[in-house]
Amino acid sequence: MARILVVEDEPRLRKIIRDFLSAQGYEIVEAGEGLSAVRKALDHQPDAVIMDIMLPGIDGYEAARRIREDRIVPVIMVSAKGEEVDRLKGFEAGSDDYMVKPFSLRELHARLKVVLRRGGEAQPVEQRWSHLVFTVDPLRRLVYSRDKPLPLTDLQYRLLMLLMGRPGVVFSRDDILDRLQEEDHESLGRTVDAHIKNIRKLIEPDPARPRYLLTRWGAGYYFAEKEPL
Ligand code: CA
Repeated sequence: MARILVVEDEPRLRKIIRDFLSAQGYEIVEAGEGLSAVRKALDHQPDAVIMDIMLPGIDGYEAARRIREDRIVPVIMVSAKGEEVDRLKGFEAGSDDYMVKPFSLRELHARLKVVLRRGGEAQPVEQRWSHLVFTVDPLRRLVYSRDKPLPLTDLQYRLLMLLMGRPGVVFSRDDILDRLQEEDHESLGRTVDAHIKNIRKLIEPDPARPRYLLTRWGAGYYFAEKEPL
């Protein structure tokens, strides 16, 4: 069963949440303030966090941000009634949902199930991985070429991950447009070809003669499976 970190400074409310979720079969880890929440997240590696915003010491936003520096984990932010919820701030901190007190325990459980399911499906590979001379750090969304970080834009990063993640598989321009727009609605603006060209400038020793990001004429683009001779 999933392990949930419940962060709430009000002991009575924390106990109510703990007892309810334990009864549903979850394993519960508790914290009463922000710093201990960060420490407990490290020690216990929860599958999701229920995070009160107003906490002694560092607040819930900051605690969530620090927890997610270590590992991507779904976070449900909880604010008191009447508190202004800064959604943007919450999403920067990586929260996946919000609840306003008082909430029903059933609603909490329903939302928890949603973020746990989402986390299980859409979880990107978080560990560093390497392909040929490149190393990818998914948590920081960075790609290194022979240990040198590449100054990729977010769109270039996603395009590169699409291709490098499945070496040898040819993606047509339409495939690429579909995949990238599916993830968010950022307009690709310029054509795929132009983006490929810009990525080549960053990753290829000689962009005019690509070794890694290759063209299959009439079909599309693919990433080299092996180091070219
Ligand atoms: Ca509080």
